[in-house]
Amino acid sequence: MRAAVLHQPAPIEQNPLQLEDLPVPEPDPGEVLLRVEACGVCRTDLHITMGELKPLLSAVTPGHQIVGRVEKLGANVSGLHAGQRLGVSWLGGADGTCLLCRKGMENLCDQPTFTGYSVNGGYAEYAIARADFCVPLPEEADAKDVAPLLCAGIIGFRSLRVAEVESGDRVGLFGFGASAHLAIEVLKHWGCEVYVATRGASHQKLARDLGAVWVGEATDRPPVQLDRAVTFAPSGDVVIAALSSLRKGGIVAINAIHLDRMPQFDYDTLLWGERQLRSVANMTRQDAHDFVKLATEIGIRPRTTLFTLDQVNEALAAVYHDSIDGAAVVLCQ
Ligand SMILES: [Zn+2]
Ligand SMILES: [Zn+2]
Repeated sequence: MRAAVLHQPAPIEQNPLQLEDLPVPEPDPGEVLLRVEACGVCRTDLHITMGELKPLLSAVTPGHQIVGRVEKLGANVSGLHAGQRLGVSWLGGADGTCLLCRKGMENLCDQPTFTGYSVNGGYAEYAIARADFCVPLPEEADAKDVAPLLCAGIIGFRSLRVAEVESGDRVGLFGFGASAHLAIEVLKHWGCEVYVATRGASHQKLARDLGAVWVGEATDRPPVQLDRAVTFAPSGDVVIAALSSLRKGGIVAINAIHLDRMPQFDYDTLLWGERQLRSVANMTRQDAHDFVKLATEIGIRPRTTLFTLDQVNEALAAVYHDSIDGAAVVLCQ
């Protein structure tokens, strides 16, 4: 099979992923082999490819928004069948036994498996996944429309949960890429007023088209005080912009696995008044199931730009340069 492999993290201009011909892997007990239809591109893939997240394996295939069909079931897998469409996202497994798993916080597991980071992911014709961490997907939808739901969508949705968004809230989205353009659909469904601060005329236009009531530059302050905010850019300055837009008792959720730096900020004006700053780490299977169900009900269709497996470095570069609207998706067959 063809697979994109990272041997050595490098700047994206150096095309760090190499396309290689590898044997199709065999599923171990409890695993499935999927024929990958499409795999969405996430900023975390960039952090892995460029080395901002330290390598865990000497060679790895990134990609953690996998839409695939079951090619082969490993031993001891029940409830799934050949040909069934499944999704695999960032949380590829948890031990189920650590303190956090036992408390229902498998997203914070001490021994997690991360798809496309601690095990091989979806920028390949075939991928292996733990059967009990796969999420059943709508069979009839186009794979390219489903792939971005699996991290951009689920983690955006989790961010709204972490920010404790309630129906009718004034919600700020800081940054407007793959994740935010799906989160806004959920917020509109919940009857929220959405304020978007983002760089780039094209992202700003998309935010307006998708129903934002106000759109500004990346660190602009919305004209009203926000109840809740989510930041999507990997920038500490943007976190401060969000925090300074918040009413008393408001919450900012940071949807970023890596920030460039966190500036010093003034406690008395920015955090006092029971304002809260929270990070969003990974996702649970419940988040995945709930979001896929909600996205299907609402009929969310991501804006996508498509790439072939040969173009996987270009797909990552497009995310790095913020040069596309919505989500980049790699078609893997
Ligand atoms: Zn991701
Ligand atoms: Zn655990």
